Amino acid sequence: MISSGRDPRVGLCSVCLHGRRVENGRGSVFWLCERSMSDSGYQKYPSLPVRACPGFGPRDGAAASTKVPAEPFRSRNRDKSTA
Ligand code: SF4
Repeated sequence: MISSGRDPRVGLCSVCLHGRRVENGRGSVFWLCERSMSDSGYQKYPSLPVRACPGFGPRDGAAASTKVPAEPFRSRNRDKSTA
């Protein structure tokens, strides 16, 4: 059982709001990255432990100091005029 603290075998995914623990019928445990559903830059099942990730967002109770700041997505070619 994992408490609100980070599991060193899993890394950041264990305290990330995008990480979800998945257990199969044989008792094997995987960590699903839900960001992979909308962003192909993330693996569905990342290699563990994850030590740094630009998409990390701390779950309630997780240490914010482990967060790696993400680059905000901005379109460089955004047309400011409205046609
Ligand atoms: S965003 Fe990064 S830290 Fe969060 S679940 Fe996905 S791979 Fe893990």
